[in-house]
Amino acid sequence: MHIETTLVRSGVAKDPRTGSVSTPIYQSATFEHPGGVSTGYDYSRTANPTRTAIEEAIAALEKGATGLAFSSGMSAITTVLFLFKPGDHLIVSEDLYGGTYRLLEEVFNHYSIEVSFVDTSDIYEVESAVRPSTKAIFVETPTNPLMKISDLKGVIQIAQDKSLLTIVDNTFMTPYFQQPLLLGADIVIHSATKYLGGHNDVIAGLLVAREQSLGEKLRFLQNSAGTILGPQDSWLLLRGIKTLALRMERHQENAEKLAKWLKEQPEVEEVYFPGLPEHPNYEIGRGQSSGFGGMLSFTVKDKELVSHILGNLKLITFAESLGGVESLITFPAKQTHADIPEEIRNQLGITDRLLRLSVGIEHVEDLIQDFKEAFHGCYCK
Ligand SMILES: *Cc1c(COP(=O)(O)O)cnc(C)c1O
Repeated sequence: MHIETTLVRSGVAKDPRTGSVSTPIYQSATFEHPGGVSTGYDYSRTANPTRTAIEEAIAALEKGATGLAFSSGMSAITTVLFLFKPGDHLIVSEDLYGGTYRLLEEVFNHYSIEVSFVDTSDIYEVESAVRPSTKAIFVETPTNPLMKISDLKGVIQIAQDKSLLTIVDNTFMTPYFQQPLLLGADIVIHSATKYLGGHNDVIAGLLVAREQSLGEKLRFLQNSAGTILGPQDSWLLLRGIKTLALRMERHQENAEKLAKWLKEQPEVEEVYFPGLPEHPNYEIGRGQSSGFGGMLSFTVKDKELVSHILGNLKLITFAESLGGVESLITFPAKQTHADIPEEIRNQLGITDRLLRLSVGIEHVEDLIQDFKEAFHGCYCK
């Protein structure tokens, strides 16, 4: 079946009693055992039918054995990190989601989980970071906010040779454009708050394990920690995910046009978009993904222009987050990546002249017009 169809059929007809087309919201903490026999549902921390519907949907979309739904992307990542013990070492993409960096550097460090942050787009750096205590490689590709692409097949090969787990944060690409489990990754994680939900109205996380044994381990950790998604939010995700294919196509089309337009502006120094042929990892991206997504970043030449743009955009909203139908712009150095020390940020290229754009599904001419006015409107130096 094609992914467009799998997406639309997510959660359809899950209630044989009524034939309800949309999965009902089973707003119940506990379930009766008729005649002393469990229906398969006992207590909603362990399993809830609305949550099961989105868990089965994401497992089918990512082509894995087990899907799990969490209260946020961070609670999915936290639960995955519970797989590790003191002294275990992880190799992690250096330019990754700021919240994941904070979780590793300020929380899991208390439990002596050791981390090397490396440029995972450089396969030699990944290989040389492996130690006897290394247990997993955690990759975000493309990275946030600099859109570097890691060679997933190369990373997975290293992991398999050394018996390490490969964990991929697939938030930016979604299963519509990239399916890391099919390349041999072990776990895929999503902040479903972003493209999967797609409407900036729900905080949620999802993960899929390729093999059932690992999936059951993670299910045990989720039930133990209680990091679950509630039935209302599970339903919102089911509702959002149905249009993912249409949304991703439009996000990408708009992002490509905007990236090309930004490149031509004299105020712009650099545009980071994996869909531009001059992107350093363009060929690797094409080989492992069926698209480039709808995220782009750019730097302006003059630092003062940043506040000017942020203050003058009228349509594009200055707000954190990404992946919704509405275009959002963020200033990573002061928002999503503020927890990364300035010196490290500058080394990574997350400077105070960098802006990140989550390109929405509005008409692209309106987005370009908004930028034109913000760039040129009344910029008086
Ligand atoms: C937003 C985000 C997260 C965290 O997800 P929440 O749903 O906000 O907890 C993790 N990884 C990436 C790439 C993200 O963009």
